[in-house]
Amino acid sequence: FEIELTSIATGDHCGPEVTAEAVKASIDATGSPLTDEALNAAKSADAVILGAIGGPKWGTGAVSSGTRHSQAAKRDGHIRKPSTVLLRLREPSRLISSDKLKYAKDDGSGFAMDTEPYSRMEIERVTRLAAHLALAENPPAPVWSLDKANVMATSRLWRKTVTEVMEKEFPQLKLGHHLIDSAAMLMVKNPRALNGIIVTSNLFGDIISDEASVIPGSLGLLPSASLTASPDGKSKCNGIYEPIHGSAPDISGKGIVNPVATLLSVSMMLKYSLQQPELAKKVDEAVRNVIEKGIRTADIGGSAKTAEVGDAVAKELETLLKK
Ligand code: NAD
Repeated sequence: FEIELTSIATGDHCGPEVTAEAVKASIDATGSPLTDEALNAAKSADAVILGAIGGPKWGTGAVSSGTRHSQAAKRDGHIRKPSTVLLRLREPSRLISSDKLKYAKDDGSGFAMDTEPYSRMEIERVTRLAAHLALAENPPAPVWSLDKANVMATSRLWRKTVTEVMEKEFPQLKLGHHLIDSAAMLMVKNPRALNGIIVTSNLFGDIISDEASVIPGSLGLLPSASLTASPDGKSKCNGIYEPIHGSAPDISGKGIVNPVATLLSVSMMLKYSLQQPELAKKVDEAVRNVIEKGIRTADIGGSAKTAEVGDAVAKELETLLKK
């Protein structure tokens, strides 16, 4: 099994810091955070690992509606121009949310309205993807569908469609439903109760994923994937894999950024795009063992440097692969 890397950030290890440096170099060298050449390479790849993008140097730009962006946007109210990189790379997965935005109305009259249209086909597609991800776990994970079916018509269509698809096509999987407000409470009270795959609509997903992101205690721990699924939701996913955090300008350049989120993004890539679930498990195990041994960066109570964590994970992985 070989992975061909068409472009790799220079530097010692794969922490977001070095990848951010590569993007910065692209802007400085070409005037663009994502050249057409880089975009084409990404489009023809099976999967893309993306580092964090953005920083005060590039000024403010339009606010993006992307899930992982929203956390930073809520905090500081602005997003930098390199965010266009994310939008261009995520184009296929952006369609649903941009469709929704077209319906936003605010004519300055003191009355504003948003609607949330969903078609059965969209819900079927995302349900199949959720089921596909649940089946990729060993043992298969439960699927939790979150909605507001007691109030919203879209949620009633959502619940009906999810239930039908799951019962008809994936009867072997456990399906549970929660109202989004009680799920938000549960996420804080007993997050393990929602272990498995969560499938929910755009806005609820945006909010609950930010809530979930603070539970492990550091943004430096959480990987993410933006997946493009085929309508049957069963075939291989193409994806962009990235840590959920930003470029952490307050600590960058000191060698103390936690590389775990990026390492776990590699594991997700192995599992979902490269069909290497066993290898993915080994990466997860290597990361877990290193954290348990106390080799941790400062954000999770340790004193190790980014490179020390990266080296330790690589060494641990080598040992696990020899077993
Ligand atoms: P941030 O995620 O960069 O940082 C928030 C806090 O978490 C900071 O205190 C930072 O030190 C800490 N942190 C983040 N990643 C860490 C890691 N791996 N290890 C240890 N600590 C970590 O969010 P921000 O400060 O709001 O944004 C900084 C820049 O990143 C902005 O320009 C923003 O637009 C950009 N951003 C990019 C993405 C992306 O590329 N997907 C996502 C969010 C923010």
